[in-house]
Amino acid sequence: MRSSPTYIFSPFSLVNRFFVVPLQNKNNKATFISMKRILVTGGAGFIGSHLCERLVNEGHDVICIDNFYSGSKENVWHLIGKPNFEIVRHDVINPYWAEVDEIYNLACPASPIYYQNDPIQTTKTSFFGAYHMLGLARRTKAKILQSSTSEVYGDPNIHPQPESYWGNVNPIGLRSCYDEGKRVAETLFFDYYRLHKVRAKVIRIFNTYGPRMAVSDGRVVSNFVVQALRGEDLTIYGDGQQTRSFQYVSDLIEGMIRMMDTPDDFTGPVNLGNPGEFTMLELAEKVIKKIGGKSKIVFRPLPSDDPKMRRPDITVAKRELGWEPKVPLDEGLDHIIAYFRDYLQR
Ligand code: UDP
Repeated sequence: MRSSPTYIFSPFSLVNRFFVVPLQNKNNKATFISMKRILVTGGAGFIGSHLCERLVNEGHDVICIDNFYSGSKENVWHLIGKPNFEIVRHDVINPYWAEVDEIYNLACPASPIYYQNDPIQTTKTSFFGAYHMLGLARRTKAKILQSSTSEVYGDPNIHPQPESYWGNVNPIGLRSCYDEGKRVAETLFFDYYRLHKVRAKVIRIFNTYGPRMAVSDGRVVSNFVVQALRGEDLTIYGDGQQTRSFQYVSDLIEGMIRMMDTPDDFTGPVNLGNPGEFTMLELAEKVIKKIGGKSKIVFRPLPSDDPKMRRPDITVAKRELGWEPKVPLDEGLDHIIAYFRDYLQR
């Protein structure tokens, strides 16, 4: 028989508030859970929505803020209405105030076609988003995690890329609004840590894919899968010999949560990615083999500053977080193919 929920008071770690937590308890005994109030910026995006889902399922009180430029309400539709989930339309280029214990700062379009559409807005989002969230973390004494990116390594001339590598970034190119925006955000995080003792943490996310990527996202995995499912040709930019390392979204979320749980004096940066490395030609062939159909491979011009290779060195993540990715590309592709097949049929 289902026992009736038990209500207990759970003190927030750093904000002087008390919160009533309904607990489903098998033996009808009160169990203390450390429930936190967590802000996720960009929470309605592809990665943000998976993070919100995980945090909500763990019983935390989650505030998701998003301006819905590249995120969508559809991504968090299944969370709307839950008592421990709030969604707010807000752009992080403006300040946001709330009493929180933790902040995950994800807000920023991440796909080249989206972040290049309004490059000035992209740089503003990275800089002011980080600045405003760090201010909030400073005032509330919240822990704060910055979702940085492998793009801080630019077109790398060290391979694979360890965190100690400073990168090879064009400061004035088409990708610079994103790359340099993310780099200066990292700078802000480290200066707030050094000057104001903000409990800052930085992860560098390598190419990530999974359900809830937008059909029009423009990144390579979603493009190839959607093209193959529609029976269209797969568009390889350049000769297809450039490499990327693709991480399934559930692996990333696990790494993010472990990073947030590290001791206060651990800032990172930490690479989170899957070291399996593939050329775009290999990826296209895999997708065509899995989906079948009449799609062929066609070649299109390579965008400027497109990195020639990318693979994370994850030694630090293994050592500090006890983390490594679990989902190989073949398995992850099956999941995302099933997702897009269903999505396109709907
Ligand atoms: N790419 C491609 N065809 C596409 C989309 C992307 O060949 O339809 C290439 C792109 O030029 C890059 C790689 O795939 O070399 C990864 O691109 P994506 O936009 O997914 O991520 P990023 O370049 O930011 O790593």
